[in-house]
Amino acid sequence: MDLLRFFCGALLAALFSGSLTAAAPTAAARTAPPTFAQREPGGDGVVFDTRFAGARLDECRADAPGEYTVVVRPENRPINDSAWFAFKVSAATARTITVRLQVEGGAMRYLPKISSDGLAWFPLPAEAYARGANAGEGILLLEVGPAPLWIAAQEMVSTERLTAWVRTLERLPYVTRGEFGRTHLGQPLQKLEIGTGAKHYVVVFGRQHPPETTGSLALMRFVETVAGNSDLARSFRREFSVLVVPLINPDGVDRGHWRHNVGGVDTNRDWGRFTQPETRAVGDEVTALAQSARLWLHLDFHSTKTDVFYTQPDTKPAKPAGFTKAWLEALQERLPAYTVKRSSTTTPTLTTSHNWAHATFGIPAITYEIGDDTDRALLQQIAGAAAEEMMKKLLALKAAEQP
Ligand SMILES: [Zn+2]
Repeated sequence: MDLLRFFCGALLAALFSGSLTAAAPTAAARTAPPTFAQREPGGDGVVFDTRFAGARLDECRADAPGEYTVVVRPENRPINDSAWFAFKVSAATARTITVRLQVEGGAMRYLPKISSDGLAWFPLPAEAYARGANAGEGILLLEVGPAPLWIAAQEMVSTERLTAWVRTLERLPYVTRGEFGRTHLGQPLQKLEIGTGAKHYVVVFGRQHPPETTGSLALMRFVETVAGNSDLARSFRREFSVLVVPLINPDGVDRGHWRHNVGGVDTNRDWGRFTQPETRAVGDEVTALAQSARLWLHLDFHSTKTDVFYTQPDTKPAKPAGFTKAWLEALQERLPAYTVKRSSTTTPTLTTSHNWAHATFGIPAITYEIGDDTDRALLQQIAGAAAEEMMKKLLALKAAEQP
């Protein structure tokens, strides 16, 4: 009875505050894991499997011999239209099957990728993929057999892979790894600190949004370049340190979410509000760092339809002044065949990490967006060049500040 009264009260309070229409986090908004582990919908030896971290497949059924419909749903709603899917399929004997993939409440944003081991991925070619009857449907022609075939929206960059990457970088003498905070599901968040003790920091965030694996690929290359063996990187690390939080939403990544954390919230609309354990822990970490060191720059890696840098307008004061413009111009000069796109029409009221970092610390704060379909070799080239040009600009700006 008390519980009922509590819920009624909470509902009324929510109605009056208008928070039912906002992405208000409540315990009730917690998301659920994928609905099944393994199914053989036709009884014909063709098996759909979600028993791995990052899987997302909510339903499957057999329509006819060799033809199946599978359905994915978002973790909760409302939600950004970025339908993630990931599952394995195998068959008792080698055969070609047709899979009708349906997205509930969204469109097929991603061209399906396949893999035989979860590590090497290949986009499904035009011969094996067609758009369905509507934007929320794709038709996949898959060659399956006893060895499972992985199908996913993008090449997977799992928590396990990012952790292995962090553990490898940690072996470098000027890199330390740490854990801080806890996610909704109790996982520790991981951080890397790169440098030789300089109290001048660049802060790098990654993977607030689970499907945005091109953002992770760019972050890794960017950080590897700063942690590399070049003369430039060595000079940079004498003057600057880098704090990297490569995976802010590991729960969402593990559960195959489209966008949110397990609290059912878009963490990149929670900066400054800090209603979620992940944003609160990362916010506290960066705020504590700013007490004992000077922050120079904040970068947050994401993915969207095209490559674009979301920045503050040049007219907004930031210290160091002029970094963003100089950096992106240098990058453009470096890559003449590529167009560096910048958007500074951001909404300052949006509670994104870059608005928070700029408002709180007065530093240039940039969301680094990689296209979903950006050529992966080009992605590596751009991220490496962006890291090098950032190091050059920051070194020059710091030298210019010396008396
Ligand atoms: Zn994003």
